[in-house]
Amino acid sequence: MLGDVNLCERSCLMRLISDFDGVIADLSERYYQVYRWSLTQIAPDDQAITVLSKDEFWQLKRQQTPREIIGQKSGLTDKQIPQFIELRNDNAHNLANMVHDRLIDGSLEALQMAKDLGWEIMTVTMRRTSELAEMFKLYPELGQVIPGDRRFTMPDAAERDRDLELKPLLLAETLITLPQDSQTWMVGDTEADIRAAQSQNIPVISVLSGIRDRQILEEYKPDFFADNLLAAVKLIQSAQ
Ligand SMILES: [Mg+2]
Repeated sequence: MLGDVNLCERSCLMRLISDFDGVIADLSERYYQVYRWSLTQIAPDDQAITVLSKDEFWQLKRQQTPREIIGQKSGLTDKQIPQFIELRNDNAHNLANMVHDRLIDGSLEALQMAKDLGWEIMTVTMRRTSELAEMFKLYPELGQVIPGDRRFTMPDAAERDRDLELKPLLLAETLITLPQDSQTWMVGDTEADIRAAQSQNIPVISVLSGIRDRQILEEYKPDFFADNLLAAVKLIQSAQ
């Protein structure tokens, strides 16, 4: 159905649907801080623990390494793994921990460039409503490029870790509420973004600034790759 939106003529409105985490925001430091903190909560002083470096930790995340394996690589025993996972799940999305989140280099510039080109800009994100609001509080300049009625989030009570199933639903629900007179592009950093875009016949650019490496993303066959949102916006512009 929404394939139709991409049939419109060159003169029609350009709509940029950007994922948030991994495209606009970098949450790697928040996840890393929670990881390090959880080890201190679990391991007694006399236990030999191998704290992964930030680079090692993030590389494992980008390779979609299960949390159990990250715990084992850090020297936790099998018996300690459930607590490791529980602490992570209970704390990774705490609003207080979002002070560690940063804007990805060039992402604000990219959104401003899209705005200057007259594009409609929106974010469709698996962040909960309160979590996205927290980032807009920390970085009020985001509000200049993504208006309040163009922030599509998950309800605060939504389940976690089902992005691959739930993101296509969120995107479908979002698009139903919008006029269908736009040429639409999607930019995301995970397989869930690719699946969501493909389910709506929207061209999708996978950026490599987020929580998946290229090898994982290639399996899902995005239309294009770009290093980051700025490169993605330039790619879309050149495709017009
Ligand atoms: Mg993301």
